[in-house]
Amino acid sequence: MSEKPYRVLLYYKYVRIEDPVEYAQQHLQFCKDLGLKGRILVAEEGINGTVSGTVEQTETYMEEIRKDPRFADMVFKIDEADGHAFKKMFVRPRKELVTFRLEEDIDPNQLTGKYLSPKEFYEALQDPDVIVLDGRNDYEYDIGHFRGAIRPEVESFREFPEWIRENLSQYKDKKILTYCTGGIRCEKLSGFLLKEGFKDVAQLHGGIVTYGKDPEVKGQLFDGKCYVFDERIAVPINQVEEVIVGKCHHCGVPAEKYINCAEDFCHLQHIVCPECEEKFQGYCSEECRSKVAQS
Ligand SMILES: [Zn+2]
Ligand SMILES: [Zn+2]
Repeated sequence: MSEKPYRVLLYYKYVRIEDPVEYAQQHLQFCKDLGLKGRILVAEEGINGTVSGTVEQTETYMEEIRKDPRFADMVFKIDEADGHAFKKMFVRPRKELVTFRLEEDIDPNQLTGKYLSPKEFYEALQDPDVIVLDGRNDYEYDIGHFRGAIRPEVESFREFPEWIRENLSQYKDKKILTYCTGGIRCEKLSGFLLKEGFKDVAQLHGGIVTYGKDPEVKGQLFDGKCYVFDERIAVPINQVEEVIVGKCHHCGVPAEKYINCAEDFCHLQHIVCPECEEKFQGYCSEECRSKVAQS
């Protein structure tokens, strides 16, 4: 097995943190002293982070985190990497770990969908009667998703409740499967579905990232790549079959490279093929390209 010099850790835990502001300050210092880079959110409801560092740094980090009784059973998803996946280190206090802004908040420790292991999820996916809901944003779906999954027309997580009420209400008696990148969003999303009256709701435990590492399932039935919120942008999941689901924003050919429009006031994230990236010089449209040429 090849061991690369760096690692990316992805983790979350819903657990009570009394003073998120103070915890965030101390934790930032701790991460900086260790030499980690990444983005961690701390809220009264828990912690959610992605950090990168050398094998040794990340090893120490996991050890130290687990010394805290609140995080003793923390599950870390570990990816090998050639270097850091972030430029800086941020630890930010937040009101919610994932911005859902429900009228009445959901505590996943009280209400959440049934957890499915990658193998259970893989088997459930093959049931022709099941409804598979992607628990992520549309742009994440567009570069890779489970075969047959519903593409939610949401650009951010907080748009989910309204979108579900408008589009999925007819499925309340069906078996619903949800999945997201690392599992944190599904904890709340599946809880919300149950609260809305959906009767049979299950979630992929550990998310797509864990699914891709399962030695038995090998990422099967996931088409395309998994969008991630760091400099890697997207990571491979399916080890058996390679299918490209992304389409070039300009010409529509299969492609899976995401870039941000080079025009400073646009920055539209879009998928490009190599030819169009060169032709449009990294701009999302002729309009954006000509704007720059004029100024
Ligand atoms: Zn193209
Ligand atoms: Zn643009």
